[in-house]
Amino acid sequence: MNINTLNITKKIMNKYNIKANKRFGQNFLIDDNILENIIFSSNISKEDLVIEIGPGLGNLSEYILNNSKFAILIEIDKNMQEILKDRLKNYDNYLLINDDILKINIDELIDDIELKNNTKYKNVKVVANLPYYITTPIIFKVLQDSKKIDDITVMVQKEVAERMVAKPKTKAYGILTIMVEYLSDASIEIIVPNTSFIPAPDVTSAVIKLVKNKKYSVNNEELFFKLIHSAFAQRRKKLSNSLESTHFMDMNKSEIEKLLVKNNISLNTRAEELNINDYINIINNL
Ligand code: SAH
Repeated sequence: MNINTLNITKKIMNKYNIKANKRFGQNFLIDDNILENIIFSSNISKEDLVIEIGPGLGNLSEYILNNSKFAILIEIDKNMQEILKDRLKNYDNYLLINDDILKINIDELIDDIELKNNTKYKNVKVVANLPYYITTPIIFKVLQDSKKIDDITVMVQKEVAERMVAKPKTKAYGILTIMVEYLSDASIEIIVPNTSFIPAPDVTSAVIKLVKNKKYSVNNEELFFKLIHSAFAQRRKKLSNSLESTHFMDMNKSEIEKLLVKNNISLNTRAEELNINDYINIINNL
């Protein structure tokens, strides 16, 4: 199927006198090569249910509807409702919802759709080009809260993508890296120049794919998250100092040092020198 998304976007923006709304972080993807590659990376099939967050003018939606069984499109901007219905009038395999994704119970929604369509979908996937300021909360909502979503393919700022797949002892390595590693298998799929969007954002973007995979077991998850946040709160300082000044488990200096020694961690170590297994061991040996 040959789609000229740049032309369609210009026509729609003219017809409806639409200007990209900064408040909703609107940057429309107009590069058909990138759009095709997103579909390829997401690996969606005609047996899958896809949730698209922030469809905007429908540029990515059209590709999703051509390649999946059914899609739920969730768009916060009321102005996009008529535009999307008009643009997608030849498709009947979608449900359009006008709401804020952060207010939606995704798993309930998926249940409703499966019941209504009397279909059990093979995979449930999230595919999205969203405003950068909500990608991280959405990624965690999907990875942590939803039991039904298998993977998520999403556009983020290139720097954020690099943080998600960073190695220890690098500047990009941190809380986001460890959280993403803990919950999923992450890969950078596509680097996207700012010229692929209207209007062009200031930064380079990247499409990342996160496949849910809980391969680590931690005795106390909440404490593990606290440890990571405490450790990286002052990433330039020694780990022991960072844990002390952030009152990790209200331990005093000597208790913290004992804890590190017990885990074969040198007292000079900084947070960025430890890998996820080191942090998990600290918790599991408590
Ligand atoms: N995916 C489209 C549009 C990208 S712009 C494309 O690639 O061309 C980002 C879209 O996300 C906008 O349409 C914006 O209105 C929508 N959006 C922003 N915040 C949202 C939220 N909290 N919930 C749902 N949609 C949101």
